[in-house]
Amino acid sequence: MENSQETTVHVAMVPTPGMGHLLPLVEFAKRLVHQYHNFEVTIIVPDDGSPMKYQRQLLQALPRSISSIFLPPVSFDDLPEDVGIETKIVLSLVRSLPALKDSLKVLVESTRLVAVVVDLFGIDAIDVFEEFGLTPYIFFPSTAMLLQLIFHLPKLDEMFSCEYRNLPEPIKLPGCVPFHGSDITDPVQDKKNVGYQSVIQLCRRYPLAAGIIVNSFMDLEQDAFRALMEDEIGLPKVYPVGPLIQTSSMNEVNGSNNCLRWLDVQPHGSVVYVCFGSGGTLSHEQMNELALGLEMSGQRFLWVAKSPVEKATNATYFGVESVKDPFHFLPDGFLERTKGVGVVVRSWAPQIEILRHGSTGGFLTHCGWNSTLEAIVHGVPLIAWPLYAEQKMNAVLLADDLKVAIRVKENENGVVGREDIAKFVEGLIEGEEGQLLRNKMRKLKDAAKMVLSPDGSSTKSLAKVAEMWKNQEK
Ligand code: UDP
Repeated sequence: MENSQETTVHVAMVPTPGMGHLLPLVEFAKRLVHQYHNFEVTIIVPDDGSPMKYQRQLLQALPRSISSIFLPPVSFDDLPEDVGIETKIVLSLVRSLPALKDSLKVLVESTRLVAVVVDLFGIDAIDVFEEFGLTPYIFFPSTAMLLQLIFHLPKLDEMFSCEYRNLPEPIKLPGCVPFHGSDITDPVQDKKNVGYQSVIQLCRRYPLAAGIIVNSFMDLEQDAFRALMEDEIGLPKVYPVGPLIQTSSMNEVNGSNNCLRWLDVQPHGSVVYVCFGSGGTLSHEQMNELALGLEMSGQRFLWVAKSPVEKATNATYFGVESVKDPFHFLPDGFLERTKGVGVVVRSWAPQIEILRHGSTGGFLTHCGWNSTLEAIVHGVPLIAWPLYAEQKMNAVLLADDLKVAIRVKENENGVVGREDIAKFVEGLIEGEEGQLLRNKMRKLKDAAKMVLSPDGSSTKSLAKVAEMWKNQEK
């Protein structure tokens, strides 16, 4: 019998902290159990000690074939204050290993556990998995371009002794658009930082994965995927299965759905949506410039604002919500002057519904990969304003290669000025350049739909993974 306990195949998935990691992994789990009825998934969540409200909300709403376990919280009290988020992300997992081992033991004893899936920072748990005879698969919630960087970073590290940002020539990875060293992913921007060597170590361990499932798709990054799939000795097989995105946002948070009612009465394609993801934050000066730039553009806007933080661009990474009320930091009289033209939402908005809405004509984004895929699926052109992690590399892909985004430029003080913001926003919604980006984005939207159709390349890739797991000996 198809659904009997005997034939049910069980997969454990272990995300590292960050909504941007959990959300696509959940989508992957949903697609797997939806498409293959004899699959069950347990999501085992390391707890970094920050409020897990959104994570719990998300996991509690899943179908019965996907269950979840929250591991006991770990503490970072012993770490210095300036420790990078990537170090904290990896440590949340490493410090959770004893509890993870206990949970896996239960699953091994009670189910036909055939595979463990970790995300991009999870390969460090490999020793624990090997104790149970399991080799991990990586679910990679980012681009083929970043994956190429991960495979090449140990070599780049040997080749160049200077900081990557000081390299005179752009970095060229197989099949990828060249990018300047200053755009390389954050954790490797400072070779003196302790986190740098841990990232190189992490990269060296990537080839130990049994396979890498990537949330991107062939038509988006054809050459990069082709290069990854050339049979290089020792590299795991790569499976492009994207774009996997949420079909609806989480439940209403703090009245945030009011903004959808506002969108309902705006003209078609007239609103620019402004959001820096779950973790992105701006300085007070930058927040001020953004507010005044939006106002100066004269365009309609919907802005998800967080309270400002100095010298950090990812201050809400572990917590999502601002601690202070962002409205207190808006320029004097801003809300009154922009009433009717713009709406500001605190901390979190239903992004999927906003991007799907006909009134939304553009998206000013931090280029987080989930936000990027969501914009592609809904055909919304972009202003790329990358902040941290691999977002600058994503911005290069979007602006220089795919040509679906205009990228903002910081002035000599490291701030994007109000005049530039106004010009970009107006150009995106009303200008000729915006129209060109929109046309390109529509083509990508069609391609994204095709790859997920029954005969599409991402569907076939997922089928290969499922088949492999079904045939895996316990
Ligand atoms: N998101 C949302 N509302 C918000 C901010 C973010 O629904 O106000 C969702 C967004 O749709 C996306 C995810 O949170 O699915 C953010 O992931 P992304 O990779 O874009 O950025 P990160 O938060 O990891 O920097």
